[in-house]
Amino acid sequence: MAAQIIDGKAVAQRLRGEIKTKVADLVAHIGVAPHLVVVLASDDPASAVYVRNKGKAAEEVGIRSTQHTLPANTEKAALLELIQKLNADPDVDGILVQLPVPKQHDTEALIRALDPAKDVDGLHPLNAGLLSRGDESGLIPCTPKGCIKLIESAGVDLAGKHAVVLGRSRLVGRPVADLLLNRNATVTTCHSRTKDLAQEVGRADVLIAAIGKEELVKGSWVKFGATVIDVGINRNPAGKLTGDVAFPGAAERAAAITPVPGGVGPMTIACLLENTLIAATRRRVMR
Ligand code: NAP
Repeated sequence: MAAQIIDGKAVAQRLRGEIKTKVADLVAHIGVAPHLVVVLASDDPASAVYVRNKGKAAEEVGIRSTQHTLPANTEKAALLELIQKLNADPDVDGILVQLPVPKQHDTEALIRALDPAKDVDGLHPLNAGLLSRGDESGLIPCTPKGCIKLIESAGVDLAGKHAVVLGRSRLVGRPVADLLLNRNATVTTCHSRTKDLAQEVGRADVLIAAIGKEELVKGSWVKFGATVIDVGINRNPAGKLTGDVAFPGAAERAAAITPVPGGVGPMTIACLLENTLIAATRRRVMR
């Protein structure tokens, strides 16, 4: 039986509609729109596109967006100073530093410099620490949050399911494993030193692939009836975007699967907007 294709674009569009309504309510209540500041400190063209798309998406739901573009040779201290200025600015609700940054910067120091209440990427140790303790009251990383919303949109109840996460990055693998555990899944996290990836994948009722290697997961590895969330974004030699999972074979065995593109990607931006709304509401209303 062919798998249900989880349409990330449609789920993201619904979420953006809900956010737009809530932003309008907030504006009616406090008279000012949430404000997201995106900092671009590299000359990577892909990052420039991501930043532009985030700004556009914010404006579409009524969130104000400001972009700070710094030259790639900006000194470490100058970027930290900008973050401190944004932290102190009462009119800024969310700060996102587009990663990766050029090598003169210390990414960890930049993340730690952010005010956790404005850390809409959810990467600050306070937000990550709360999440790993089972407390989701902080800001939650956007892509992992999007993965969970996609699983829920497919009607899957995670309690008691065996979830296998491929990847242990602080951006995706670790936080998504925390979110799955918080929803009572039994979680296995795999990484580059995992001995038998095919065997681990074969035990997954829910599979989250976040590795960054084109179609590393073969369709034949996937358990019949599994839910497959493919986070990977890879550009193959022909210039086509592919995921970490070999889609056609996996779709023959899975009950539900996300495509690449059009799966997790659109959810990441929608969840960034949601985090900005949450940060603004907490800062401006709930204080
Ligand atoms: P990352 O920081 O490079 O982490 C990759 C993870 O995969 C690491 O934990 C690594 O293990 C593991 N890994 C590498 N090779 C492996 C192998 N052969 N077998 C098992 N595990 C292996 O990447 P990331 O930031 O988490 O991103 C992962 C992918 O998701 C990338 O393709 C990225 O572009 C994509 N992504 C998509 C979105 C979206 O919105 N759709 C958002 C973020 C990321 P070690 O820890 O042992 O090195």
